[in-house]
This record gives sequence, C-alpha cells and structure tokens, in this order.
Amino acid sequence: SSTGEQQTHSGFIAIIGKPNVGKSTLLNSFLGTKVAPTSPRPQTTRRGVRGIHTSGERQIVFVDTPGMHKAKDALGKYMNHEVHSALADVDAVVWVVDLRHPPTDEDQLVARQIRELPKPVFMVGNKTDAAKYPDEAMKLYRALLEGREHDTSETMLSAQNNPAAVATLREQLLDALPENPFFFPQGAASDQTREQWAAEIIREEAMKKLRDELPYAVATRVNSWTERQDGLQRIEGEIVVEKNAHKGMVIGAGGKQLREIGQAARKQLEVFLSRKVYLGLEVIVINNWREDEEALRELGYE
Ligand code: GDP
Ligand code: MG
Repeated sequence: SSTGEQQTHSGFIAIIGKPNVGKSTLLNSFLGTKVAPTSPRPQTTRRGVRGIHTSGERQIVFVDTPGMHKAKDALGKYMNHEVHSALADVDAVVWVVDLRHPPTDEDQLVARQIRELPKPVFMVGNKTDAAKYPDEAMKLYRALLEGREHDTSETMLSAQNNPAAVATLREQLLDALPENPFFFPQGAASDQTREQWAAEIIREEAMKKLRDELPYAVATRVNSWTERQDGLQRIEGEIVVEKNAHKGMVIGAGGKQLREIGQAARKQLEVFLSRKVYLGLEVIVINNWREDEEALRELGYE
C-alpha cells in the first residue's frame, strides 16, 4: 500500500431507490466508463458491490442494493434482509428519485427505511433534463423524510448528461467517509468476479422486463467469458427459472422478450466495459430453485 503514515478515509455507500430512477446510470457516472470489473477480490459478505472509486487517500465502495419489495419466499426474505443489512453496514446512503414524477408508494417504502437511519443521506433528484417541474417534485420527495434528525443533503442533477454535478456530488461523498484503511487495493474496481457482476446486470434487466411473480423466480449466471482478438467480449449467460411453464414466459413470443433482455444487458455491459460485447443468453429450468438450499448456494445466494 502507498498510504504510508497518512490517514486514509474509506467507507461503503449504498445507492438505493425504486427501480428505474437512474441508480445504475448514476453509478456509471460516479465511476467513469473506463472502470472494468476485475478478477476475484478478497472475501466479503456484502452482496451487490458494484464499484470502487479511489481518489488519493480516499476510497468509496459503492453498494447497489436489490430492489425493495414485499417478501413472499425464502429468496424474497434473503433480498429484503440484504437491503436491511446493507443499510446497517454502510457509512452513508445515496437515495435516488426521479423528478419527472411525484413520489409513489415505492418511494415511501424506501423513505421509511432511511428516515431514522443515523447516517448521512444524500438525496439525489435525478433526470432534471427531462423533468417539467423539478423543484415541485423535489419538495414532495423531501417531505417523505420529514422529521429526519440526521444529516441529509440534496442534489438535483441529470445522471445522464451532467458530469460536473455528478463529480461535485462524488466530492461530497468522498468528504463524508470515515477514517478507515482501504477495504480494497488501490486499483480494484469491484469485489465480484466479472462473471458474477455480469450475471447481476442480466438479472437486473430481466427483472425490469418480466411481469408479476416472474421477476423473483429468476436467477442468472454467467458460465463463460472469452475475449476475441479484436477485443470483443464474448459472454455466455443463463437465466434460471423454477418451472418449465416459466421458460416460455421469459423467452416471449418469437423470442422477443429474451432478445430485449439480452440487448439491454449488453448495452449496460458495453458502457461499463468500454468494449463491444456479444451476449449469448439461454433460459434453463432448475425445479423450485428458490426453495432448494443447494441450488441457492450454487447461484450465489449464501
Ligand atoms: P435503475 O433501475 O435505478 O438502476 O435505473 P437506470 O440507471 O437503469 O435508468 C433507468 C432509465 O432512466 C434508463 O432508461 C436511463 O437511461 C434513464 N435515465 C437515467 N438517468 C437519467 C437522466 O438523468 N435523465 C434522463 N432523461 N433519463 C435518465
Ligand atoms: Mg439499476
């Protein structure tokens, strides 16, 4: 380590918010597109770490929490537990909201989780570029945290095309870090294998597209990743469903839905990797994997 006698500051920061508000986009912006996931990192019990940003003597470990929803089974419980323990473990929280629309029940659910949280909360009103009444919307979101007694700050920005504002926010996050040794090597970009990381992105896109119960009945994994001579990343992944009847529902008429999931995931992967990606996706059945301890372990839910 090059830290010598100097104090380092380091900590975990969760990016939370309901689906589609721009969490991934913001994370991309925080990290810059040159960031690529790397080989296996030191063991850590925290799931879903997506990115590490090191600047001088300060290091942020961004934690992307799974979406919050009502628990219906062992996996659902695991996920809500993940959100809960993520909030318990982190040093600060970035709460992303979409300023194009007023708050929904889902935003309230998120707000409830952080209202009493005794650590800094950075509210990010996102999509200012596309919001008709950003100030009014921000006021409504702010009201959801009314009565909160701990550090709360606000930023309104566009995660998509406002790099200066994103950089300013990142500076504020770096300033909020507690004194700690670095949790990861200086050059590390992620604590997951690149395969785990890519599988998470595929799962995220699948969950966005699928309806009803189905999103929670899928798991994903990446079985092979090779680099072609010209730099193209060739990734083979699987979407795992728990019964035969679900297979067709994921694939969709004429394979349309699976294609859409694959395209969305490929785009995200390309942004992160700054490389062309070929993504092959297959849907397989592991009967009742959600209640199958061994299957859960195999799919990385320990
Ligand atoms: P997540 O589900 O919270 O991770 O959201 P994503 O980052 O995947 O973004 C959801 C959608 O919102 C995508 O279509 C993004 O392109 C879009 N989006 C994200 N940030 C912005 C923004 O600042 N402005 C606009 N107009 N769209 C955005
Ligand atoms: Mg996302």
